[in-house]
Amino acid sequence: MKIHEYQGKEILEGYGVRVQRGILVDTPDAAGQAFQSWGGTAAVIKAQVHAGGRGKGGGVKFVTSLSEAESVADAMLGMQLVTHQTGPEGQKVRKLMICEALDLAAEYYVGIALDRALGRPVLMVSAEGGVEIETLALERPEALLKLPIDPAAGLQAYQARRAAFFLGLDAGQVRQAVPFLLGLAQAYLENDCELAEINPLVLTEQGDVVALDAKMTFDSSALFRHADIAEMRDEHEEDAKEVEASRFGLNYITLDGEIGCMVNGAGLAMATMDTIKAHGSSPANFLDVGGSATEEAITEAFRIILSDSKVKGILVNIFGGIMKCDIIARGVIAAAKNVRIEIPLVVRLEGTNVEAGRTLLAESGLDLIAASSLDEGASLICTAVTSNKPS
Ligand code: GDP
Ligand code: MN
Repeated sequence: MKIHEYQGKEILEGYGVRVQRGILVDTPDAAGQAFQSWGGTAAVIKAQVHAGGRGKGGGVKFVTSLSEAESVADAMLGMQLVTHQTGPEGQKVRKLMICEALDLAAEYYVGIALDRALGRPVLMVSAEGGVEIETLALERPEALLKLPIDPAAGLQAYQARRAAFFLGLDAGQVRQAVPFLLGLAQAYLENDCELAEINPLVLTEQGDVVALDAKMTFDSSALFRHADIAEMRDEHEEDAKEVEASRFGLNYITLDGEIGCMVNGAGLAMATMDTIKAHGSSPANFLDVGGSATEEAITEAFRIILSDSKVKGILVNIFGGIMKCDIIARGVIAAAKNVRIEIPLVVRLEGTNVEAGRTLLAESGLDLIAASSLDEGASLICTAVTSNKPS
């Protein structure tokens, strides 16, 4: 799960990490007041969306007068901010952070991410701030220091000192950077983060070490033990269909293709998507209805798939294990009665009680195409969709 910069900074402050302070606003008037409260001479206005690269996209602006603060806030609120991390349609800006303006002497990169190969979090630092870390890691790996963190012991002070010296900080700055890095690592571990990135970490003209930005993402499977963080979820920033699906316990992700998929089990869902590709079309979604989907959840799954205008056909591919095929068939029949399906529907069932399930479908009078294997199912839906197209 992602959160906003202002929320990330709030969490980090609780761990003693020094952050660029800001005031959250959602009107130009409030932006003006916040500007005045920073002294009335300068502030930085920052769009709060769940995407990086805001600066380059026009979502971070330096302002130097009250009227400028109000007019920039007015223009930014409600705009669709497009960055390299949003889609081409961008993200709507609903809130702004009006930040204190700092005089920067240097910008650095600091991040903690899970290294799946090492099986532990890794602290990464670079003196080249503001750059994209993925590019740096590929093109100039020597400019990036990586230190694995023992998840039980946490980041060690000697590691934090080594990172600070790698950045070229002097002794006084190192004394500030060490508690900064230790706090960041503690925040990462205690909150089950996937990523905690400070890009840039800055050294001010006054010699202070400050987090100018904060990007934190969390392991969704661990949110049950972090109610305070779960509350920070902002559904406006997420795909509406995915939010709806998660309410019904469905794992749904929107994709670009034209075949809607309804599958149980993540592995089978991926195999289904691959098989559709192999037959020349492409999936409109990933959908794992889970091992114990109810009739209601299956109806909802149909509704979500059909609400996507890209979808030209649906392939249901269910392997009955714990879940019995006759129950799934009943779910499909009930769903088809509740939701009008006017595009080709191919159903492939296999596993426990498969005969009962197939009989139910055959006797239901539904206009569906039955398949007896995944390969056949994928082939049938791809053909049906292609022959349905106006030539
Ligand atoms: P991002 O583009 O979404 O990563 O947004 P950031 O919060 O990282 O801001 C982008 C850039 O704006 C930073 O890398 C800084 O160069 C600049 N910036 C932000 N706040 C200040 C500030 O107080 N003073 C100065 N001089 N630059 C700032
Ligand atoms: Mn940034």
